[in-house]
Amino acid sequence: MGAVDAIKQDLLAKGVKYCIGAYVDIHGVPKGKIVPISHFEDFASGSELYTGYALDGLGQSPNDDEIASVPDLERGIQLPWQKEVAWFPADNTYHGEPYLLNTRTLLKKVLADAAAKGWKFNLGIECEVYFLKLTDEGGLAVENSDDNLMKPCYDVKRFLDSYGLIDEIASTIEELGWGLYSFDHEDGNGQFEFDFEYSDALTMCDRYVFFRYMAKKIAAKHGLIATFMPKPFADKTGNGAHFNMSLADIETGANLFKQADRSDPHGLGLSQLGYQYTAGILKHGRALCAAWAPTVNSYKRLVRRGLMGYYSWAPVFNSFGTNNRTNSVRIPMAGGRVESRNADSACNPYLAAALALAAGMEGIEGQLDPGAPRSENLYAYSDEELKNIGVQSLPRSLGEAIDAFAGDPFITQVLGQELRDEFIKYKSAEWEEYNLTISPWEIKKYARLY
Ligand code: GLU
Ligand code: MG
Ligand code: MG
Repeated sequence: MGAVDAIKQDLLAKGVKYCIGAYVDIHGVPKGKIVPISHFEDFASGSELYTGYALDGLGQSPNDDEIASVPDLERGIQLPWQKEVAWFPADNTYHGEPYLLNTRTLLKKVLADAAAKGWKFNLGIECEVYFLKLTDEGGLAVENSDDNLMKPCYDVKRFLDSYGLIDEIASTIEELGWGLYSFDHEDGNGQFEFDFEYSDALTMCDRYVFFRYMAKKIAAKHGLIATFMPKPFADKTGNGAHFNMSLADIETGANLFKQADRSDPHGLGLSQLGYQYTAGILKHGRALCAAWAPTVNSYKRLVRRGLMGYYSWAPVFNSFGTNNRTNSVRIPMAGGRVESRNADSACNPYLAAALALAAGMEGIEGQLDPGAPRSENLYAYSDEELKNIGVQSLPRSLGEAIDAFAGDPFITQVLGQELRDEFIKYKSAEWEEYNLTISPWEIKKYARLY
C-alpha cells in the first residue's frame, strides 16, 4: 500500500467523508474546494484548480490558466467538531511549479534557504482574541457590561465566568495535540490568550490560521463572536500575535540562540547568532511592520495608551530590549529566543514569518549588532526624547507602513516583484478607502462645531 493510500484508509477508518485543501489568500484567510474521500488520490496529487483572479493577492488575470492546490498530507487535521471533514493546509502550483504568490509556498522557500545553512526556524505565536457579543446595531460589546468597571488582566473570576467557552477551546487544542501550556484572561475585558508549544514555523503558521477559524466556530456555538481584529475597542488593549523566534541546528535540534551560561555581552542568555538575528529584524523593522500589522485598525493598537488611560503593552518603537515589554523586540527572561511584539492577530502568519526569517538571516550574514538592549520604560519618553536617544518609531498608520514596505529593496528580494506589488496594491486600496470614509467621530467632532 502506498503512502497516499495508507492515509486514505486511515481517514476512512476515522469516518472522514470530505477533505479540504486550505491555502490562504494574501490576508491569510483560508480558501479551498471540498473533495469527497472517494477522490482522495486525485485530491492528494493536486487535482483541484482555481482561478486566482477570484482571490485577493494571487496575482492572476481573468484569462490566466488556473492554479492548483496541493495539500500537505503530513499536517492534516480532522475537524474536532465535525469529524467527517479533514482539513489539510495547502500550497499552490502553476503548471506544476511552486506558485510563490501563495505565501505558504513562499515561506517554504525561505525555510529551505535557512535549511541550506543548517538552520531550522522555530516559532511560537501567542494567540490573543476577544470573545464578544453582537449588539442589535451590529456593533461589538463585552458580554457582561459590569466587566468594564475593572481592569481584568489575569482575572480568575472572568475566566471562570466564561468557563464553558474557554474550556471547549482549550480541550480542542489539547485534542489536536498542540501542547497547550496556559491560557488566561488578558488585559481587555472579554479578551483571552491561549499559548501552546512552539514548533517548526510552517506547522505553527498552519496552526495559527486554523486556530482563528476554530475559535470563531466554537465561540459561535456559545452565541459569541471571536474577533481577531487588532483593536476592537479604543479603550482596551489590542490583540497581539507575538512571534517568538529561534533557530535550531537542523541536525541536532539544539537551540542556536541559547547562551545557557549568560556569558553574552548583555547577560540575556542570547547567543551571538540571536543578537545578529535581532539586528536584522530591527534593520527592516519599519518595512516588516506592514506584514506584521497589515490593517488600518492595526495602527490603533500600536499606541502608548490610546484612550485607555493605562499603557497598551503594544509596541510603538523599533527597538530592542531586555525582558522589557515597551520594546518591539524583547528577549524574555529565560533567554534563547527573540520575541517580536509587532505582529497582530490580523497578520498573514506565512508572509510575516517568511519576511522575519529572511531579515534575521540578513542580520546574521552581515554580522550586524543590535546595540545595547533598552531596559527603561520607553512609553514614558516623548517623541523628541526618543529622537535624542536614537530610538526610531514604528509606522503610525497603514499608509506609513506601506511607504516603508515599498521603500525597502529587501522586501522585493524576498517576495519577488509580483507578490510585493500585489501586497502594496491591496493594502494601498484599503488605506485609500479608509481615508475616503467619513467616520462617526468626525460627524460628532465637527458637524456642530463648524
Ligand atoms: N495585548 C498586547 C498586544 O497588543 C500584549 C500583551 C502581552 O504582553 O501579552 O500586543
Ligand atoms: Mg498577551
Ligand atoms: Mg508575548
